[in-house]
Amino acid sequence: AKAEQRNTVRVFEPALLHARRLQGQMITELREAIRTDQLVLYYQPVVELGSGRVEGAEALVRWNHPERGLLMPDKFIPLAEETGLIVDLGDWVLREALRQLRTWLDTPGLVDDFSMRVNISPTELRSLELIERVREALNAASVDASKLVIELTESVAVNGSDLDRYSLSGLRHLGVQLEIDDFGTGYSSISYLRNLPVHVVKIDRSLIQGLGTDDGQRDFVAAVLQLIHACGMAAVAEGIETAEQAAELSWLGCASGQGYYFSRPVPPEDFVRLLGRS
Ligand code: C2E
Ligand code: CA
Ligand code: CA
Ligand code: CA
Repeated sequence: AKAEQRNTVRVFEPALLHARRLQGQMITELREAIRTDQLVLYYQPVVELGSGRVEGAEALVRWNHPERGLLMPDKFIPLAEETGLIVDLGDWVLREALRQLRTWLDTPGLVDDFSMRVNISPTELRSLELIERVREALNAASVDASKLVIELTESVAVNGSDLDRYSLSGLRHLGVQLEIDDFGTGYSSISYLRNLPVHVVKIDRSLIQGLGTDDGQRDFVAAVLQLIHACGMAAVAEGIETAEQAAELSWLGCASGQGYYFSRPVPPEDFVRLLGRS
């Protein structure tokens, strides 16, 4: 029995050590993935609610892992943020999304009055080269800055350091559009919204969910929309899953929306097909 016990200890490493080793391996793999183009972008349409026209796309990253298949961002973005790899990952996303936009713009009659949305994490915003990297990526793809929307999480706005403010105003100067993502997820205080240098506010899915079934929720979202508009900003709703939700948001004056009701995020080939339909 004693020998067995000793054996057990040797064979099974403690869970924490095991987790650390896996994490270390994953960091190495992710670094390699960025270098060797294992990352892919899916695109979800952003729709003009009044007309149904596709006015843009949000680029959402996936990792085409050689053994584990297609990994969703929640499996690797947090790790990339912790380790600083997010800066290289974000640079790849930005360049790839703009390259794709260039291709679509070059296809006659495909996209018109169309913008590309890219997610930037708080760590990236704090990187001193961000403004320069965005400028270079726009130049490389020869895309006008006004066609790029940078999505930032609400926490950036709330905990806003001087460096954040510096980055935001630098990006604004480039002519890029700024958007607060996931608005209403708990960091919010309404007073900061007024002084925030952003153009667009994206209302979080959790606020949209109750729409179409709950009158109280409709009144609440109506008030949120009024607040956004009073600040001179445009509103986008995310997580629209039903026709009722889309209709109600449109009726309440929300200009744009995205969600499974219109389309899930899809690979670029499928996105082009979606455009053909509208
Ligand atoms: P997010 O920016 O809030 O993106 C929206 C997420 O909601 C996406 O998940 C999208 O697939 C999902 N979604 C869209 N419509 C619906 C809907 O109608 N119903 C439901 N239930 N979900 C919907 P995804 O692609 O798994 O991305 C998760 C998060 O990962 C994103 O949340 C974003 O924070 C992060 N992320 C994705 N790509 C990037 C990237 O390139 N850079 C950075 N920094 N973060 C990224
Ligand atoms: Ca987003
Ligand atoms: Ca969001
Ligand atoms: Ca969200």
